[in-house]
Amino acid sequence: MKNGQHDGPRICPSCKSLSLERQFVNDRFEYGAEDKTVWVEAENVPIEVCARCHETFRGPEAARVRHDAICKTLGLLTPAEIRNLRERLHMTQEQFAEWASVGVATVSRWERGCWIQTRAHDRLMRTLDENRVLREVVESIPEAKRSLQRRLVASGNG
Ligand SMILES: [Zn+2]
Repeated sequence: MKNGQHDGPRICPSCKSLSLERQFVNDRFEYGAEDKTVWVEAENVPIEVCARCHETFRGPEAARVRHDAICKTLGLLTPAEIRNLRERLHMTQEQFAEWASVGVATVSRWERGCWIQTRAHDRLMRTLDENRVLREVVESIPEAKRSLQRRLVASGNG
């Protein structure tokens, strides 16, 4: 529990009775992506339901679960995955933004789940991660490193 959530019932904004309870539901909704509209299935979405008037309420937590489900359906990195990736690369949001040719506010919005990155940016982020892994592997093996250097020199790129 965080952000001052209480375990007991809360007051319903609609009927003002103390009947609002937390539930988890599966949401199915349409999402208009860049090039097509897709159906998204979000599981275990935290919502609040009024036992009296049956009104349902979806807050920021529900939005986050739905956002993650959209990213997964579209095959894009989720906000947490973007943040993890950036931290693995030991980059600040500023460095990451500069490298991806976007504003730092954009990186922040991706990581907070306010915006969804384009497929092109998603691919770019994954490429950076793959290159890092490849470089680390090559540099950890002396023979592979020498071989790569020889090839670079031979091809005139060294
Ligand atoms: Zn109510």
